[in-house]
Amino acid sequence: MKQLANAEVTLKGIGVSPGICTGKAYLVDREGVEVINKYCILEKHLKSEVKRFKSAVQNAKAELRAVIENSPEALQKAQILETHVLLLNDKLLYGRTIETIEKERVNAEWALKTVVTRIKSAFEEMTDAYLKERVSDIVHVSDLVMRNLLGAEAKDLGQIDKRVILVARDLSPAETSQINLERIQGVITDLGGKTSHTGIIARTLEIPAVVGLEVAIRQIANDDLIIVDGTTGTVIIHPSEKTVVEYEGRKVHYERRQAVITRESHLETKTTDGHPYRVMGNIELPEEVVAVINYGGDGIGLYRTEFQYMNRPAFPSENELLESYTDVIEVIAPRPVVIRTLDINGDKALATGSMPTEANPALGLRAIRYCLKRPDVFRTQLRAILRAAAYGDVHLLIPMVSTYFEICEVKRLLDDAAEGLEKDGLPYKRDIPVGAMIEVPSAVIIADLIAEQVDFFSIGTNDLIQYVLAIDRGNRLVAHLYQPLDPAVIRMIKRTVDVARDKGIKVHMCGEMAHTSLYTPLLLGLGLEDLSMNPQAIPAVKRMMRSISLSDARMLIQDVLACKTAKQTFELLRDTYGGLVENHLLEE
Ligand code: PEP
Ligand code: MG
Repeated sequence: MKQLANAEVTLKGIGVSPGICTGKAYLVDREGVEVINKYCILEKHLKSEVKRFKSAVQNAKAELRAVIENSPEALQKAQILETHVLLLNDKLLYGRTIETIEKERVNAEWALKTVVTRIKSAFEEMTDAYLKERVSDIVHVSDLVMRNLLGAEAKDLGQIDKRVILVARDLSPAETSQINLERIQGVITDLGGKTSHTGIIARTLEIPAVVGLEVAIRQIANDDLIIVDGTTGTVIIHPSEKTVVEYEGRKVHYERRQAVITRESHLETKTTDGHPYRVMGNIELPEEVVAVINYGGDGIGLYRTEFQYMNRPAFPSENELLESYTDVIEVIAPRPVVIRTLDINGDKALATGSMPTEANPALGLRAIRYCLKRPDVFRTQLRAILRAAAYGDVHLLIPMVSTYFEICEVKRLLDDAAEGLEKDGLPYKRDIPVGAMIEVPSAVIIADLIAEQVDFFSIGTNDLIQYVLAIDRGNRLVAHLYQPLDPAVIRMIKRTVDVARDKGIKVHMCGEMAHTSLYTPLLLGLGLEDLSMNPQAIPAVKRMMRSISLSDARMLIQDVLACKTAKQTFELLRDTYGGLVENHLLEE
């Protein structure tokens, strides 16, 4: 139901690209490929039906290539659309559709629709949020083919000739890539989550975006005035004059502050009592390195390598991995890169069609457990990492370590990989720092044992909170209990840092807890060294570091440890350091 009167309505979604904009809504309507009829194809016409499908795929490819050529350079680098070109030929989609046409003797549209529905339901059972979202890539690609089969008109966002904010159920990367920055001020969608491509593209283009709004398309009409706040994930429909003025003020304030702190972010970061810190960026794709540099990052503190293994029928080759790793290393050099080995679980492996479904994937054959079960897959990655290490300052990080044995096995496999490279006469570097991610309670308890085998710890709070508090990190029903400041979490962090200090190894944090600047004094006070976070968060965290003294932060820890609840800890931080952060971060 559209709003009847023009009353102000506020919607809450997920802010995926920061910033504020106010403007008129432009609804992207993607109807036309929804209603598909089924009809039978006579045996003698099957060949030409397959041919019709193949030529629709060819046309879809040509369209994508044209979009790639006309999109801004930063997006071309992101290669998201290249992945879509590859997906068009994916066995899962292309091969199965042809098979369905031939076996079931149905029209190409129906065959494609059936195949996509099957893929969708297989993906829906997955619990991994990133993978779940990747189904949208398949849907976008198949929509493109479907439009070509049906001869339906594509919506050309490049043709929009006024300043608008895009409102869509979902936007494909191909659509988002056509965004003309002079026209499109912001983007909001009903679907999508934290890791959706809309977010990655919007961040690259630096326009505000909010996704996962669920009801925006039903509540907003073309030309409605809306405000998008990508920092807080808020969308306001029919804002009153007072609200418009208020948000204009916030926008000016946000932009000024961003400009200043981003400029400062390139300077060396020291606390007021002279202690230097490095603040690094987390990346998923090689092209995000540029953002880390732009925001003043001192290196890549977490390179999540699993995304290169997804949406494809076979695992990547050693050379392919090497190429991505060296891309990252060379762009960020001489700064360090922490490459994390494959954090894949049962669900993620399912993308290759080789894994049975697990009842509890978060407790299952995930990350290092999977790699040790599949030494062939792991060896390829270890070889690629050791080879890449010859080109820069590479550190290797092992995810989800839960036993001492795992880390010993990794080191043995690293020796094997190095031996193999030596025999093959390929350049490599064996002597690289090896770290363990501390994200499982058992790893905290035996941190002293693990420390004997590694050069550094990196605390992954996203999982640590999940496993310590028994809260599924993707479950909205228990999201209110997912509290980084819970005393149980803080004590786990404290023990890890204390052990690292005793054993003389380094301790970093790369979980999202590190990106909240209000928590920075707590983390420094506990004794953490490098922090790594999403690139956009780097300037604010650096600014906080420059504004506080380490000795004060250390003194605060006694009071923090006396807090009995997350709320009390939050209030303590807010009362002590709240004046140094943006107001919206002070909302509980
Ligand atoms: C973490 O668990 O905190 C982490 C950084 O890893 P991921 O979010 O990739 O699981
Ligand atoms: Mg993790």
